[in-house]
Amino acid sequence: MNNILLMAVAISVFIIAVVIFILVKRNKQKAPRKTSYIDALHMILDGKKDEALENLKRAVKEDTENIMAYIKLGDIYRDKGYPIRAVKIHRNLLIRSELNSKQIEAILHHLIIDYQAAGSLDKAIEMAERLVHRTKKNMDNQLLLLSLYEEKGDWDKALIYRQSTNKWMKKKDQKILALYKVESGLKFIEKKAEHEGRIRFREATKLDKKCTPAYLYWGDSYRREGRNGDALKIWKDFTVKNPDWAHLSFDRLKEVLFDLGRYGDMEEIYQQIIQKKPKNPTAYIHLAELYRKQVKLDDALTVCNTMANHYPDSLRCRTILIQVLQQQNKDKEALIEALKILNREIEKGVIFRCDHCGFKSEDPLWHCPQCYHWNTFLEEQQ
Ligand SMILES: [Zn+2]
Repeated sequence: MNNILLMAVAISVFIIAVVIFILVKRNKQKAPRKTSYIDALHMILDGKKDEALENLKRAVKEDTENIMAYIKLGDIYRDKGYPIRAVKIHRNLLIRSELNSKQIEAILHHLIIDYQAAGSLDKAIEMAERLVHRTKKNMDNQLLLLSLYEEKGDWDKALIYRQSTNKWMKKKDQKILALYKVESGLKFIEKKAEHEGRIRFREATKLDKKCTPAYLYWGDSYRREGRNGDALKIWKDFTVKNPDWAHLSFDRLKEVLFDLGRYGDMEEIYQQIIQKKPKNPTAYIHLAELYRKQVKLDDALTVCNTMANHYPDSLRCRTILIQVLQQQNKDKEALIEALKILNREIEKGVIFRCDHCGFKSEDPLWHCPQCYHWNTFLEEQQ
């Protein structure tokens, strides 16, 4: 019995000794193989790229299975301004048969950055498409591919792509989708394909009925083909759909109406915009100016008074009111209005602003509570 126990103990001790021996031997073999790589990682962290490069070269020689070492080696070449070399190193990795999914995805990701650095946008897109195909649920990769399509100006693909990511993220950005259509239209216009361009602009307004550039360029395209009536229709439609930004079409409208011999129509257009209570007072200002030029000073004054009520803070509005009063020889009233402006400016009072960080205070301060600098406060008229 004792003998059997002794035997068992002896065998156990032997097995443990053998295991320890194997482990120690393996570690001894592995240790030199890993040190170059680990050294390199430290050097990368310390910003010593040249030394890291040498260590990585050694590391991949010592252990040709160390995929991460190859990836980092390529990255350093790219950072040092040799993106083609980085591409070669990273692309060669992809040929290997023993890679797992995570490794393939990492390599593709690095190749995208390499190709971008090398200015090969098409290749970067190809890699990103492969990556997205492999990682269908990864939103970051999808957004990366989307940004590459945008960078290339491939608006049709960007549109399809953004629509599908929107579905995923349960959001809508019709305004951006519409702007893609506008960009796409402009590309056709560049190639003198006016009709194709206009189709895109129209599609843009279907996605976002307020899409300002779509209406402006759509009308411009008609103008280039001498279709003034159609251009007028598009721009008038724009002022109805988007009164807040309608003023951006005023110069275009004036020109086309002038060419059509219908300059007087501007009055009606301004009035229609005003009825929609736009956030921007430009339609009022233009209408008041129009009446002033036509010496319809009573009409101008009416517009100015309404405008001053709607936009009490607009200096432009007040200034035109003063000009109209002066033109009507109502000097005293003009002076009263001018004084109102000045008084309002004075009432705004004084504030103290930190010259270092911009922190504002109504009370004088000598130690900034935001950036903690001393004696940085300047007195400012608001
Ligand atoms: Zn400060």
